Amino acid sequence: MLILGGVPEETKQDILKISGFSERSLPFKYLGMPIQTTRLKKQDSECLVENICARIHSYGARKFSYAGRLVLVKAVLSSMFVLPKGIIAKIEAVCRNFLWDNSTDYRRVPLVAWTTVCKPKEEGGLGIKDQELCNQAMVGRLVNWVAEKRNSIRHAGNTPTGCYEWLKGAGTIVQWFRAVWNDWVVPKHQFMGWLYAHGALRTNDELLMYGLDIDVNCYLCGQAAECMDHVFFGCRYSKQMINWLNQLTALILPDQHILEWCVDRQGSKLQKGVQAAVGMGAIYHIWHQRNCSKNDCVLMVPKRVAEQIVAEIRLRIRRRDENEMTIGDRDWLKNMKFL
Ligand SMILES: [Zn+2]
Repeated sequence: MLILGGVPEETKQDILKISGFSERSLPFKYLGMPIQTTRLKKQDSECLVENICARIHSYGARKFSYAGRLVLVKAVLSSMFVLPKGIIAKIEAVCRNFLWDNSTDYRRVPLVAWTTVCKPKEEGGLGIKDQELCNQAMVGRLVNWVAEKRNSIRHAGNTPTGCYEWLKGAGTIVQWFRAVWNDWVVPKHQFMGWLYAHGALRTNDELLMYGLDIDVNCYLCGQAAECMDHVFFGCRYSKQMINWLNQLTALILPDQHILEWCVDRQGSKLQKGVQAAVGMGAIYHIWHQRNCSKNDCVLMVPKRVAEQIVAEIRLRIRRRDENEMTIGDRDWLKNMKFL
């Protein structure tokens, strides 16, 4: 597509001849959206919501993990442009439902509020952009570009990202973000670690508060009422698994407050990253086993789970170029039994 404006007729004819394009005038549709000189109306943009729903339905045919769905939601939202408020709200709702339940419809209460999800990762979010602010930033960028006059948004830089950052303002950094979002942590463990950090994993005690009549015992040991503190810190099964993890490596993971342990790690970037990866692996697999036991009545023995975590981390280490590691890091990995 080539858009021509204010071009002499002769030049236009030359361009059309050379390019082989045919001429059309406004309004016309591009990617299902009407392109016109006047402001888009809500009904004009409805087709965009339908297109996005159709795209998500096609994704929904496959089973994606949370991490996979997050990538797709970001791809959909990053391709948006200036739209009416009502349409932004609809598209966000579709993406939100897809992220939490693999569907375009609202079927499940989100585990974490959308306002939190839309924060940057350092501030505890998932780095999805607030679309309303994005819209304002894009409008601000256009205003600057067209007018080039003094405008408060202009001081934020002349890029949509600069405008967005300025409109959003600085937030509070969360301590745990580097422990969860670092390259050594397995991507699917990152998402679970993020949910854990927000206290968003729903255990039986919480479901009971919603009035659901369910078995209250821990799915891992069957010997105590299930709550977050028990599953991750008090459960005999989880303690045994952590104990095996410490035997298979030379790390000393505590059997409680794993996330805090990950945050407090010292050493090089690699050493902190690998330790956080083990901690996040422990959190992920404890919860995964809990769900396997709950949904399928299958539970792996603690030793086997620990072996799986170590194998996953070893695989990530083997994929890295050893020559790019310092001698200190290689020695550390050997001492910790990862190499
Ligand atoms: Zn238990």
